[in-house]
This record gives sequence, structure tokens and C-alpha cells, in this order.
Amino acid sequence: MIVMKFGGTSVAEAERIVRVADIVRDRLDRKPVVVVSALGGVTDLLVRAIEASRVGDRERLEPTLADLERRHRWAASGAVERNDVRHDLNLALDAVFEDLRQLLRSIRILGEVTPRAADTLLAFGERLSSRIVAAAFAERGVPAAKLDAREVMLTDDSHGAAEPDLPGIRARCDELLRPLVEAGRVPVLGGFIGSTQSGETTTLGRGGGDTSAAVFGCAMGAEEIQIWTDVDGLMTADPKLVGEARLLRRVSFAEAAELAFYGAKVLHPATIAPAVQQQIPVWVLNSMQPDQTGTEILGEPACDAPKLAAVASRRGVCTVRVASKRMRIDPGFLPRVLDAFDRRGLVPDFVVSSEVAVTLVLPERDQIEQAARDLGGDVEVHVGRERAILCIVGAGLAADTEVRGRVLSALAKVEPELVGLGGSASSVGAVFPAAGLESAVRRLHREFFEEAAE
Ligand code: ADP
Ligand code: ASP
Ligand code: MG
Repeated sequence: MIVMKFGGTSVAEAERIVRVADIVRDRLDRKPVVVVSALGGVTDLLVRAIEASRVGDRERLEPTLADLERRHRWAASGAVERNDVRHDLNLALDAVFEDLRQLLRSIRILGEVTPRAADTLLAFGERLSSRIVAAAFAERGVPAAKLDAREVMLTDDSHGAAEPDLPGIRARCDELLRPLVEAGRVPVLGGFIGSTQSGETTTLGRGGGDTSAAVFGCAMGAEEIQIWTDVDGLMTADPKLVGEARLLRRVSFAEAAELAFYGAKVLHPATIAPAVQQQIPVWVLNSMQPDQTGTEILGEPACDAPKLAAVASRRGVCTVRVASKRMRIDPGFLPRVLDAFDRRGLVPDFVVSSEVAVTLVLPERDQIEQAARDLGGDVEVHVGRERAILCIVGAGLAADTEVRGRVLSALAKVEPELVGLGGSASSVGAVFPAAGLESAVRRLHREFFEEAAE
């Protein structure tokens, strides 16, 4: 059997859902299990609705809710043709939306959102999309069986970033999924959502639909995991930023993980590790062009692989320089600084240390100020906001000093505040003001990945 995951972009509207049904129908002989994300943009709308409820902003809440409801009704009526099926689906949607309104009302009254409540609310996106997709499948010759993913995806209780419990999930797959697949049915599950042993809803973190696909694939011992999205596969740069970006037909696991970490959101980093451990091939494919070849993620770099794979970038980081007022770093200084940020849940992307100071590159969050205060008065902290990371990834960076030199001198031209070389064998990253990001990505892409490059 195979796992086919369709991201929010692939199920954003009725027409695309119909296309997804055709893609799955053409592959029924491979015994697919289908994982779907919320309709594109819906998780963002839910985040907005939760925040508007928390602060009691009805003027923002009502249009957001109306938008959410309209998107789903529209998708349902466009993707499902039979009147009786559509009628039943609409009744089911009525009940789900009533639940959603009630929960948001209680948040407005309480004026706070616990992580548990946030997960319960965020899960509505995938609960709704899987219902609509399963109904659309049924009338297009795909024998779909809709399942509540929360009954299969067992997790710990770290709300917002829950950790899947693989042995538990394996048991649920054997009990709930395998018999359906063996009977020729196509299980349809929402990605991103799970539940604890005691039945509380959890989520796996943004972009976590990919994680669900990998976890179900591993638990079922799938032959292949297919991540269907809105671009041809993993490319030499984000095609939305660089028109000239080219498809990478094969990428090693290490390169793909690095690219995902540094901003190529086409694949969630957690997708690849469990699949590679079990040697399950992962493919990234385009649901708008299902006959294109896509990208295969390989366990090891191919022998004919180019030295550089791609350039990735990510906004939303800041630099934090912590300097000791005593003009020297005492033993214990570095662990103390790292610990202060770690306790606030802030994990650095880069750390550079010198004799009097350490600079961290961290996700831009409110907790940075609190962590800086925790450090006390014998340090000076300077926070540089609105920074971006740009990273060139390629297995060739490990062994080829000439390539490494060329990459470093190209990065120097974008006037970085900080360069990270050596932390990883297959990437070199730089941090600089976010305003220059797009032109820097294009410039580096031109230099290394277009025409005369390599
Ligand atoms: P989905 O809804 O399928 O989960 P995402 O929006 O999470 O899709 O990821 C797909 C997007 O990732 C693409 O539309 C593209 O803009 C972006 N992306 C960023 N970097 C890359 C890259 N190197 N190759 C391909 N896509 C990339
Ligand atoms: N719907 C979730 C999100 O937008 C999960 C996913 O799409 O993978 O983050
Ligand atoms: Mg995604």
C-alpha cells in the first residue's frame, strides 16, 4: 500500500478536490491511504478566529467565521454532485460549525485560550476537509472510508507540537486502517491532528500534515509516501520567489531535511526522518500536473548528484547578541544563555560565540524579551529584529573546498551579519536584514543554479 498526502493547496477548492479524486482513482491498484490537510488558508483563518475570540473582537470574529463557513459550503457543493449526498454532507457541516461557534463563544467569555482548547479549535480544519474530500471521492469511483484521524494518530500531550506515539499508532492502524485497505477501501484521514491516550485533541505543529503522512506510512509499512502539493516537486528555490527555479529530480534525505528546516515549506522536516529509517521512498508530486515525475527523496546522495541542490530562505528570525559586562566569558556563561532561551521554548538556528559575547539567531517571538530579562544585569543584550536566514544546501559542500569557497564569497556579497559554516556538512547559511531577502535569493540562484552555473 501507499500513503498519498494532499496539502491545503491541493484541496483549496471544489475543482481541486475533484482533481484529487481523479488522481487517487487512477492509483487504486496501489492500495492508497489518503491524508488531507485543511482547505488552503483555513488553518490561518482558524488562528485568526481564535485570537479574535480571545480578545472579544466580534467585528473580526464574525467575518472570519463567515469566511470559514462559506469556503467549506462552496467546496462541498462544488465537489459533491448527488443531491442526497450533498444534503447529508451539509447536515454534517451544520453540526460541526455549531460546535465551532460554541467553542469560540466560550473562549470569548473566558478571555483565554488554553493550548488544549487551541488544538481542539485548530483541528476543525482537517475534520471538515476530510469529510468533504471523502464525500467527493465516493461519487467519483473511489471507495472512500472517512476516519477520524484522532482515533489513529495517538500522541503525547505537548499541545501545538505533539509527538506521535508510533507503537500506539501501529496498533490502531492494524485495527482500523489495515482491514479497510485489505477490503479494497480507501481510508481518508485528516493530517496534522491527533489525540492523547485520554482522548484530548492535539496538533502536530504547522505544516504537520506531512508528518501525519510519514507516520501513517511508517506504521503501515507503506511501499511509498507521496506528498502531493502545488509545485512540481522540490526545486532549486521557492518558485514563488524565483521564476527560474528548476525541479530537482532526486534529492538526498540530508539535503531535503536541511532545505525543509531552512524554509522550503514544501516538505515538513519531520516527514523524512522516520521514512528514511524504514527505507520508505518519499516522493513530492504536483497535484495540478499529476503526470510530471516529481522529486524522489533518496537515503544517500546519488553519485551523479550536483554539488549544490538549492537555496532556501526563511523570514521571521532575529539576532540576539548577549555580551558579558565583565568583558570575558566565564565558565557556565554559554549554558546559562542557552538555557534562558530554551526555557522559553526558543531554539536557536545558529549560535556564534566569541571571547566576550555570544550571538544567537532565534525565531522572532515575544518571549525573547522575557528570556533576556531572565539573564540578569551582568550582561548586555541587543536584539536585531526583522532578519532573515538564507541557506545554500548541497552534499558537495562537505568535501569540495572550492565549492565552499565560491558559496562563501557569494554569501559575503549579500552583506550578512552572521555566517554559519560547519554546523552542518551540507549547508552554509547567512543571516541579514529581511528587507533584502528576495533580491539576495534571486542573485544567489542566478549565480549557482541558472544556465552557466556548475
Ligand atoms: P501544501 O499545501 O501542499 O502543504 P505548502 O504551501 O506547505 O503546500 O508547500 C508548498 C509550497 O512550498 C510551494 O507552493 C512553494 O511556494 C513553497 N516552496 C518553498 N521552497 C520550495 C522549494 N525549494 N521547492 C518547492 N517548493 C518550495
Ligand atoms: N493545516 C495545517 C497547517 O496549515 C497542517 C498542514 O497543512 O500540513 O499548518
Ligand atoms: Mg505544507
